Amino acid sequence: MGKITLSKVTKSFGDVTVIPALDLNIDNGEFVVFVGPSGCGKSTLLRLIAGLEDTSSGAIAIDGHDATDLPPAKRGLAMVFQSYALYPHMSVRKNIAFPLKMAGMEPAQIERKVDGAAKILNLTNYLDRKPGQLSGGQRQRVAIGRAIVREPAAFLFDEPLSNLDAALRVSMRQEITELHQTLKTTMIYVTHDQVEAMTMADKIVVLNAGRIEQVGSPLELYRNPANLFVAGFIGSPK
Ligand code: ADP
Ligand code: MG
Repeated sequence: MGKITLSKVTKSFGDVTVIPALDLNIDNGEFVVFVGPSGCGKSTLLRLIAGLEDTSSGAIAIDGHDATDLPPAKRGLAMVFQSYALYPHMSVRKNIAFPLKMAGMEPAQIERKVDGAAKILNLTNYLDRKPGQLSGGQRQRVAIGRAIVREPAAFLFDEPLSNLDAALRVSMRQEITELHQTLKTTMIYVTHDQVEAMTMADKIVVLNAGRIEQVGSPLELYRNPANLFVAGFIGSPK
């Protein structure tokens, strides 16, 4: 579970093509980072995979099934939004349970799943609090918990740490890496931060103006950047 294949995926807004005919393979269980400068199309690409944007042409397959025209809820993926997307009036428990309640799951089963996610995320003692009574890192964990309970084929993160201060960013980076090691689920992580990309990724996809400049492990990119753009962006010698 969690294999995602993009074939000649193109996205245009009006006359402007922001992603031209992009091919990409993401394997089961990989931690893939989309990195590149602001405006290069990282969020658009993630939203295409999530189904929050329609492709202009091309195809997206998830676990071997054509998902190009599936609505987001039918893709089996979970987008992790920044922590400010939590419901302030609901407890942590209710925030995490929300997607399951919407899906009509029975209360006893919901409780089991929420307790399981809370354990993984060290939130067990905070389930009755409101988001406003939590630290920034705890709030971000609640946002992740809301994704975990859905047991998605892949987690999609769009710059989830950009609202946090520098110290917290470093510890959350570590937590997300550990979460990946625990769950072994495919994760796609968007960032413009080279350090985040180099420290978290199994595979880095370097984007520039909607095109892939290079795909490879952090070490491959560092040792063998395909061109000056990659070298400059990753900060490697070329
Ligand atoms: P990134 O996440 O890498 O900063 P985006 O994917 O947000 O980049 O944007 C890529 C390009 O697509 C930008 O030029 C942006 O202005 C454009 N774009 C994104 N969404 C829309 C939209 N809904 N309508 C028009 N243009 C858009
Ligand atoms: Mg973006």
